[in-house]
Amino acid sequence: MKPARSLTDLVAAGLMTEADAAAMAGVADRYAVALTPYVLDRLAGAAPDDPVAVQYIPAPAEAYSTEDELADPIGDHSHSPVKGIVHRYPDRVLLKPLHACAVYCRFCFRREMVGPGGDALSAGELDAALAYVRSRPEIWEVIVTGGDPFLLAPRRLRAIVQAVAAMGHVGVIRFHTRIPVADPARVTPELVAALRADGIASWVAVHVNHAAEMTPEAAAAAARLADAGIPLLGQSVLLKGVNDEAAVLEALFRALVRNRIKPYYLHHPDLAPGTSHFRPSVERGQDLVDALRGHVSGLCQPTYVLDIPGGHGKAPIGRCAIETHGGDGHGIRDYQGRRHRYPG
Ligand code: SF4
Repeated sequence: MKPARSLTDLVAAGLMTEADAAAMAGVADRYAVALTPYVLDRLAGAAPDDPVAVQYIPAPAEAYSTEDELADPIGDHSHSPVKGIVHRYPDRVLLKPLHACAVYCRFCFRREMVGPGGDALSAGELDAALAYVRSRPEIWEVIVTGGDPFLLAPRRLRAIVQAVAAMGHVGVIRFHTRIPVADPARVTPELVAALRADGIASWVAVHVNHAAEMTPEAAAAAARLADAGIPLLGQSVLLKGVNDEAAVLEALFRALVRNRIKPYYLHHPDLAPGTSHFRPSVERGQDLVDALRGHVSGLCQPTYVLDIPGGHGKAPIGRCAIETHGGDGHGIRDYQGRRHRYPG
């Protein structure tokens, strides 16, 4: 089976009608479409509201942007001193060696930047990006993202890891990827080995939004990484129509922890163009996070965060459980909503 890279391919796969494809030609011209053979196989016969299908199949609502939406919602460009680097916080940088992905998520926060061909860094540009990191001893963590860095050949991944490890001042290299759930066979022992080097800790953050994505194949891919000693984090986006129910989030986070993936962030969706149909209210997100507290262990609870538009960084946006009563101590809310006093 071949990847689907167009609306025509989606019609041929039975995932879209010809009428819908005709209505969405403009959407597909603007935002890349791709589903891997693995995802296509997984979606065979799926209903249109399947929680995995709606993450990848274009929808008519993508044609409409709200006034608040931004082409670069988290301000990558304004924090990019060198091509391929985003330096937003003092002690860490994003390194973006490519802007291509195996699948294109319809809610992607970088949807104006990612696509086939993906503006990969040339060898010289990658050298310049690495030189930027090398010359700044305050950089302790390098987050390799994109696009999806696991699309790179193991040889190229290994070269990046070795170069960063050799700098000496970088303690952690972290990869952000959707590949373990989008094309798990690509997580080969060779790729896993390429991620590790002496003198640096390698972490992998896996983007997963629904428990249904943690298939036996995805679980095996995660296991190959975890068994190699690579700690795994889960990054999830709160998405209307995919996971905006407490039971669905609970199942997702339990599935991640069961597979040795610690849920790290639950992202409120960014203001990417044409994605308002995916965005629940912040209050809805807070209610969902509150509903999980106490009912699943801390292992299963990520931090609910929002990237402040314009590139001002992440902020935790869950409700605070503590209130200060002037000089008279604090009020603390337990997981059942009851209030208790805490002195001091
Ligand atoms: S894998 Fe990540 S970068 Fe690629 S389309 Fe999905 S959200 Fe965007």
